[in-house]
Amino acid sequence: MTSFTVPESGLTSMTAADLAEAIHSRQVTSREVTSAHLDRIADTDGEINAFLHVGAEQALAAADAVDESLDRGEAPASALAGVPLALKDLLTTTDAPTTAASKMLEGWMSPYDSTVTTKIRQAGIPILGKTNLDEFAMGSSTENSAFGPVRNPYDLDRTPGGSGGGSSAALAAGQAPLAIGTDTGGSIRQPAALTNTVGVKPTYGTVSRYGLIAAASSLDQVGPTARTVLDTALLHEVIAGHDSFDATSVDRPVANVVAAARKGATGDLSGLKVGVVKQFDRAGWQPGVMDNYHESLAQLTSQGAEIIEVDCPHFDDALAAYYLIMPCEVSSNLARFDGMRYGLRAGDDGTHSADKVMSISRAEGFGDEVKRRIIVGTYALSVGYYDAYYLQAQRVRTLIAQDFAAAYEKVDVLVTPTTPTTAFKLGEKVSDPLEMYNFDLCTLPLNLAGLCGMSVPSGFATDSNLPVGLQIMAPAFADDRLYYVGAAFEAGRSKA
Ligand code: GLN
Repeated sequence: MTSFTVPESGLTSMTAADLAEAIHSRQVTSREVTSAHLDRIADTDGEINAFLHVGAEQALAAADAVDESLDRGEAPASALAGVPLALKDLLTTTDAPTTAASKMLEGWMSPYDSTVTTKIRQAGIPILGKTNLDEFAMGSSTENSAFGPVRNPYDLDRTPGGSGGGSSAALAAGQAPLAIGTDTGGSIRQPAALTNTVGVKPTYGTVSRYGLIAAASSLDQVGPTARTVLDTALLHEVIAGHDSFDATSVDRPVANVVAAARKGATGDLSGLKVGVVKQFDRAGWQPGVMDNYHESLAQLTSQGAEIIEVDCPHFDDALAAYYLIMPCEVSSNLARFDGMRYGLRAGDDGTHSADKVMSISRAEGFGDEVKRRIIVGTYALSVGYYDAYYLQAQRVRTLIAQDFAAAYEKVDVLVTPTTPTTAFKLGEKVSDPLEMYNFDLCTLPLNLAGLCGMSVPSGFATDSNLPVGLQIMAPAFADDRLYYVGAAFEAGRSKA
């Protein structure tokens, strides 16, 4: 049987750091590395559906440019020059369609590159293609994609999570050693947990949102994903930094995440205070996930960390607050998809008014979950309900931020399981949106507070034999702490 997880050997089995070293020391060319990944995509993506678009020609041209520059004796453009990457199809690219996995934008070509796309190109990183997601990043399983769900390489009957299931599945299948995700309520960390990969949601404002198709602007953040903590750190340093094109971009130096990952690789956590969030240590969750979580805590202790239980009472209200604020922002952001300016236009046969054409276009272009959120958000923002819903949810947001602040007075990082269960079956939750939303419990508080977090692989649940992730959270702008603790945890696991 064809295996869908990372091959045992060969270029597609290697880490990005090792590939970069091999390319820069001329043991292998970027073209060979890029071709190997394109071949792997061709062999496996019929089953996995991680990619909405593969740009073989452009990827190989970018690879050749790196090889030629190395031939001329020039220094590599970045630590990752020549190592290919998969880009979530929510970021604009001028040389490939940007669809947000929606019929509304099918085939749409952006007139400009997102800042993250530009930084990736400038770093000499070939872009293999654009990865599948839940439509406009709304969902937790990729089943809301207008172009079919992504399948988990560990079990093709199951979801790789969402919304960034395509990026995470691509990593888990050895289709790409690096991938870009976006995280509004967990879309980087949750799929990472379900696919045995690493995903980081950076501090809000530290990675540019320019050219990221907005879902909920006060929550959205672009972030790096890979199969190791060091690879994720290397990519983090490529994409982070101030951008005057993003009004919420923060003008301060990028955290030293690569150095932190290297420091963590020694596995020594002495002196570190780890807060265990009481609210997310629940007896009712999947026993195999909770057993794995408790083993992770024991491992952190054995590495020298001190475990301290912390109370974050308002985390329980994060789900209700998020699923009000998020749709409110969606209802406003997605108003631009009106069939007039770009994307799908339907019903424009000369018999309908402009208003009617807009309404036919939106009815045809958006899927059910997107429509549900637009309706909920519009309702919650309407006169008479604004105070009761939106304003109330914003107050809860403040309480959650205060819970974090109080916790970080006592501890350096917080940990929780990333998800309450391992990967669920495709189809299992589609008819029950609340069940789907519940799956996001652990990842939402962080976005509401604008802080940073990582999901790092913590092994496999004994009751499902599927991957589990440990979520590590840190204060705003302490992204380097995630990498230090994540790398130490990863090192501790490989020694165990
Ligand atoms: N699952 C969450 C939602 O549907 C988070 C999505 C995301 O982070 N983009 O809103």
